[in-house]
Parts: sequence; structure tokens; C-alpha cells
Amino acid sequence: MPRESKKSKVARATEFCHRMGELYGAEPSALDWHTPFELVIAVLLSAQTTDVAVNAVTPELFARWGEPASMATAEVAEVAEVIHRLGFYRTKSQHCVGCARMIMTEFGGEVPRTMDELTKLPGVGRKTANIVLNKAFGVVEGIAVDTHVYRIAQRMGLTTAKTPLEAEKDLLAVIPRELWDGVNSQWIRHGRAICTARVAKCAECPCADLCPQRPVRYGAGQDRKGHRK
Ligand code: SF4
Repeated sequence: MPRESKKSKVARATEFCHRMGELYGAEPSALDWHTPFELVIAVLLSAQTTDVAVNAVTPELFARWGEPASMATAEVAEVAEVIHRLGFYRTKSQHCVGCARMIMTEFGGEVPRTMDELTKLPGVGRKTANIVLNKAFGVVEGIAVDTHVYRIAQRMGLTTAKTPLEAEKDLLAVIPRELWDGVNSQWIRHGRAICTARVAKCAECPCADLCPQRPVRYGAGQDRKGHRK
């Protein structure tokens, strides 16, 4: 199969993003938050769990420690008790308190507004930082690549990267900057509805003509993850 030119990949990626935008539009985060600090904490808590589960624990969490100053003085064990219904709650409670302490000691009590500073916070990687920058501050410095975005990027032939972090670089190179904003939320919804982890429902996909997976059907040349055999 001939190697695809950068120009062609950019054109496909751009059109794919436009169609994702038409299909899924702009959607606010399903996480409940009111301040940048609450968003940092909510996104931290959302790893490996659902937004619904996070929203079930954050009212009590934020009522007790809704500001960096109060969370910085909390006992990790107390925070763990409040969020114990979430997966990895012990690590997450350490990150919550650690973030608050660093915000207080190094950032004057305010959630930082740059990628470099945000990713210094315990438990905050580029994915979390991208979401916080975008939703709390309207700053777009990258694309938050979660498992859905990563899978779709692979199936779309936009990356062969071995990690989501590397995949982000590939996506930034082929998607115009003005479209970065919508990728995370729109592709996640596409990944849940159509391009699912279990099977890519290509026959239902409005972007099948843009995708190298298009002629392949599950059970006939496609493995259970929707990848070409
Ligand atoms: S055509 Fe299939 S593999 Fe490609 S994005 Fe759509 S559902 Fe996913």
C-alpha cells in the first residue's frame, strides 16, 4: 500500500473533524465543576471511571475542600474516604491533596494556566492539562488523547504511535489548530456510539469514505477491536 502524503492526511483529518463537529457539536463537559480547581480535581478523579460516578462524589468533596487552601490541609485518608467508590481512590486522593499543596506553595493559590506548569501538578498529564486549559481558561495548546481518541486516530490511519502521548503529536501535525478544540469531546462520543472499542460499526459511520478501515467488516478481515487482521 503506497505511503499516504501529508497533504492527503491533513485533508482527511480536517474533513473528519468537520463531520465530527456536525454530528456531535459542542458539548460541555459532563463533569460537574464551577472553578478551575474543581475541574482539575474532577478530571483527575475521572481516570478509569465514568463522569457520572465522579459527579456522585464531588458534591461532598467540594463542600468540604472546594478550594486549594482547604484541600491542601486535608488528610489524604479523609479524602480517600469520600471518594472510595471510585477506582484507584487511594492514588487519586494523594493526587488531590498533592495538587492543592503545590498550587498553594508554587502557584500562589491559583490553578496555573500553562501546559508546563499544569503538568507539574501530581497526577496531571497532558491529557488532563489540555482539558483544564481548554474548558477552564479557553486555551487550546493541544489535544487531550484518551483511549477513544487514540483508537480512532489509529483506525483512521492518522497515527501509528505506541502511546497516546506520541499520538497527540501526530494529530497536532495533521489537524488544523482551530479544530483541536472539539476533538476530545466529539471523538469520545463517536468512540462510544459508533467507532467502539469492541467493534467499529463502519456501516453506520458518516466518515467511512475517509477511513482506511471502511471496506473491512467485523468478522471478515477485521479483528475484534475493529483493526485490520
Ligand atoms: S469508518 Fe469505521 S473505523 Fe473508521 S472511524 Fe468510522 S467506525 Fe471508526
